[in-house]
Parts: sequence; structure tokens; C-alpha cells
Amino acid sequence: MEKITYFLCESNESSTEFYKKNLNFSKKVLNKLEGNFSNDINDYMNYINKNNMEQLRSKSEYLLEILMIGVFWKEHVNKAISLSKIPRNILIKLSTLREKESIKKIVDINRGLLEYLFLNRRSNDKVKISLENYKKLVNYLKACGDYKEEAKRLEVWISYFFSLNKNKVEKILTSYLEFAKYFEDISQEALGIYTKNVNLFLKNIDKKYKYREDFLFCSRKEVEYHLNMVGAQIMNEAYRKEFLKTKEKRLLLPSCMRIKDEKNCKAIKTEEGYICNSCSKNCNVNKYDKLGKKYNFQVYIIPHESSISVKNKIKYGHIGIIGVACVLNLISGGLKAKNLGFVPQCVFLDYCGCKDHRHDKGIITDINMSYLLYSLGIEEC
Ligand code: SF4
Repeated sequence: MEKITYFLCESNESSTEFYKKNLNFSKKVLNKLEGNFSNDINDYMNYINKNNMEQLRSKSEYLLEILMIGVFWKEHVNKAISLSKIPRNILIKLSTLREKESIKKIVDINRGLLEYLFLNRRSNDKVKISLENYKKLVNYLKACGDYKEEAKRLEVWISYFFSLNKNKVEKILTSYLEFAKYFEDISQEALGIYTKNVNLFLKNIDKKYKYREDFLFCSRKEVEYHLNMVGAQIMNEAYRKEFLKTKEKRLLLPSCMRIKDEKNCKAIKTEEGYICNSCSKNCNVNKYDKLGKKYNFQVYIIPHESSISVKNKIKYGHIGIIGVACVLNLISGGLKAKNLGFVPQCVFLDYCGCKDHRHDKGIITDINMSYLLYSLGIEEC
């Protein structure tokens, strides 16, 4: 098996060991976050509640946002401060336009060019920690397109920071950045074994991905893989009980799990996604489709995260979805599903291999079936 970036079956034949390690590590990170930022998070949640900003989420989800702020600051703020208003606004507009399937290709050609020219420029200056630069960071994430959902969460913090005095904001952001540095070290130790090919992959990134719309997505460093591993675990824990109570359950699979390419796959298009037509018994999608018939969940093939949409907002609590995706898409996928009214759970692709972003010919991907059955409440972990 060709290992491209991450590989969850590294320490065993299956990814079961990874799931155990990730669960324990995520608990450790959450405990540390709570120990360090308990007062901060209570203040933030009180502010949200008092100002009716949203239906309060769980404390662990807000603690995850602290980790996201720190990691994104560390990874992207030097690029964010170099991005000026006009290209930023064009890129934000293009990232919305690409959701229209009919013009996606042409939008992506332009986005690829602009992304490389404007979102990849990194200032060498030491960046002052301030609310002003935090806003630039959130705008940068919006302009990237791939962080749309994360940016929405981080944007809520702006009005809270605005209510505090300047020194307090600087102190808070500094402590989040410090935590992100600590996270980078401990996550490398705990999860680095699963992401050891990322640096190798990044060596050729400029040669192969320059001017492509997925340049930034594919350029992400190991720490963002680890952030998504931990983030997905935290979100799974936060929504598990509600998910198990939902009457309707759906499993959303990416097209890289099919045995045949787009032209030859006989799946049928519906409003919710493609439904497998069982044209090949060796196809992984067919395997999970059969499981769905046995355990009463519907399987859909979703070509891209942007294809997840609903005509009318769903009443929250009715439909639970298990999103399957490559590690880097899990936080954004979970947040998007929640925004649309689904109760989310996610399962990691054991490795990536899609033809669009990662591999010239494409590698057929798969997931851990036991973890899927655990997510559905059918098997014990
Ligand atoms: S078995 Fe289903 S998903 Fe797989 S190639 Fe055939 S129709 Fe497509």
C-alpha cells in the first residue's frame, strides 16, 4: 500500500489501535485545556449566553476552539497579515461561487492562481498579538475557502474580544498560542507515527501543486492533521448521545471509496447524494451499502464536502449523519453538518488516496468497520 500522507493502520493491521490512542490523547488534551482555560471558557460561554449569540454548545467544543485559534495563529498569521483587502474579497467571493457545480472548474482555475499569489505570501516580521491581527487571521481563513466553517466559529470570538480591554485580549491570545506550541510537541509524540509521510509529501508540493486550487489544502503541516484527529474525537464525544437518539441515520462516503471511476460507477444521483447500484461486489461502497440495509441506515456517496446541502433546514435531532472523510476535512465537515441541522459523527478514512488531490491514479480507500459499528451504537468500542 502506497502511503501518501497519513496512514492510520501504521501500528497494526487495522486502525483500531489508532482509535484507542486518539481517544486517550484527546482526553489528555481536553483535560489540559480545561485546566489551563477553565475561567476563560466560562467567561466566553457566559458572554455568548448573555448576548443570545447562539444556542450554547458543550464546553469541550468551545475548548476545541481555543486550540484551533492557537494552531491557526501559529500556522497562518504571518500569511494573514500580508493579505490585502481586494484579493481577500475576491477570494472570499470565489470560494462561495465554487459551490455551484456548473462553474466550479472555471472558478477553481482562477482561485488556484490567486491563492498561490496572495495566500501563500508569508511576512518574516514578528506579528504583534492583537485583536486587529486576529481579525486578519479570521479573514484569511475565510479567503482560503477550505476553512469556511472553522472561520465562522472563530469569528464569534471577535465580538467577545471586542468587549475586553486590549491588554486582556493580548494576554488571552498569547496563552492560546503557547498552548498550540505545547500541543504541536505532544501531538507529534502521540500521533506522529500516523502522519510521518506528510513531510515527505510536502517536499514536492511546490512543483506539483503550484497554481492549483488545492495548493493550500495539500500544503498543511502535520500539526493540522493532529488538530483534526483530536477535534473529530472531541466532536464525536460531544454529539454521540444525541446521534444515537436520532430516528434516521445516514452514512456519507467519499467517492474515493468506489472501485470504479465516475464514468463507470452506476450509482444513481439523488438530492441527498449518489446511491450505490451494486454494480461490483468488490466495491467498498457496496460493502457498506449492504451493511446499511442490514442495520437500517442509508448510504450516500458524496463527491465533495460542498455537495452536502439541504433544501430546507432540518429540524435538529431528527437526522444523524456519519461523515467519512480524509483527516483534514473532519472538523469542517462536522461543523457544516451541525449547521445544516444534522447530528454529526465522523469516521476517518484510514488513509487518503483520492485522484483529485492526492494521487495521480487514485487509491481506493476504506474505513474501520468496527469503529463505524461503534459509532452507530451497534458494537462496543
Ligand atoms: S458498487 Fe456501487 S459505488 Fe461501487 S462502483 Fe458500483 S455503483 Fe458505484
